[in-house]
Amino acid sequence: MTPMEHIKEDWIILHDGTDGRGLRYECTRCGRVYAPALPLEVEVFVALSKAFTRHHKRCRPSGESRASSEIETRIAAAIESGA
Ligand SMILES: [Zn+2]
Repeated sequence: MTPMEHIKEDWIILHDGTDGRGLRYECTRCGRVYAPALPLEVEVFVALSKAFTRHHKRCRPSGESRASSEIETRIAAAIESGA
């Protein structure tokens, strides 16, 4: 199981950091990027992938964002604190 297996939407990308800019998720529709703090436990990685995908799967190609940075911050804080 890898985090990418949880991302079916082709506009949501998980950059693996080999470009030297660090591991990060990107929604190419709204342009939002989320770079989790490393290192990550595998289960946290998977949870973040699911959360990021869930909040961006309804983004439109027009660039209209359905997600807010506040939501993502809250998700990350909850996951990282083990809540
Ligand atoms: Zn988006």
